[in-house]
Amino acid sequence: MAGEPQDDCLFCKIVAGDIPATIVRETPTTLAFRDINPQAPTHVLVIPRVHYPDAASLAAGDPDAVADVLREAGEVAAQEKVDGTGYRVVFNTGPGAGQTVFHAHAHVLGGRDLQRLV
Ligand code: IMP
Repeated sequence: MAGEPQDDCLFCKIVAGDIPATIVRETPTTLAFRDINPQAPTHVLVIPRVHYPDAASLAAGDPDAVADVLREAGEVAAQEKVDGTGYRVVFNTGPGAGQTVFHAHAHVLGGRDLQRLV
């Protein structure tokens, strides 16, 4: 069922505590942890605890969770002290955009000069 934990999902396993992660923030609806392969001095993933495969399906199925993830992205940036210099929030959506883990997540990137993308 939409939103239910999936046995084969890496991030559901992190939510369940079955796989370790370096957690930087937790709320009742979200989890924020350091990316295992950081692309910037600050590279934190913010995920909803509920399982949806990508940001679009999360928005369709649980819009409040999208708001929670985005609010937490801002809180992570402030906690990491990259909010002053600027940071980037990225939702890779689909394999063609580089998505490799199919549990919705926001990348919060900061702490270095981020080239303008668009
Ligand atoms: P995507 O490529 O946008 O789907 O992002 C998935 C991210 O998850 C990548 O940046 C990976 O480095 C990261 N990742 C994969 N496995 C783990 C893990 O076990 N802990 C933390 N980050 C992970």
